Amino acid sequence: MMYVFICPKCAKTRMVSLQRQLSCSACGRSMANCEIDFTDWIRLDESQRQKMIYVYSHTEDKNLCFFRPMPVYNRWERNYFC
Ligand SMILES: [Zn+2]
Repeated sequence: MMYVFICPKCAKTRMVSLQRQLSCSACGRSMANCEIDFTDWIRLDESQRQKMIYVYSHTEDKNLCFFRPMPVYNRWERNYFC
């Protein structure tokens, strides 16, 4: 299972399989876990990806999730109610 992380500061993206938390390799910022699944991400075209990155870079920290979801779905961790 792969997860997509987006840097809200410099818009860098990274796919990981094991890490739960990531720092951006470019700017050191905590990367946000992308809401959509890796398999959906790779089906997006470039402009759709840019749109998604734009949303993440214009969202307040408190509304982002910096941990990838656990295998067991955890809605608290995903910050839906923050
Ligand atoms: Zn960055």
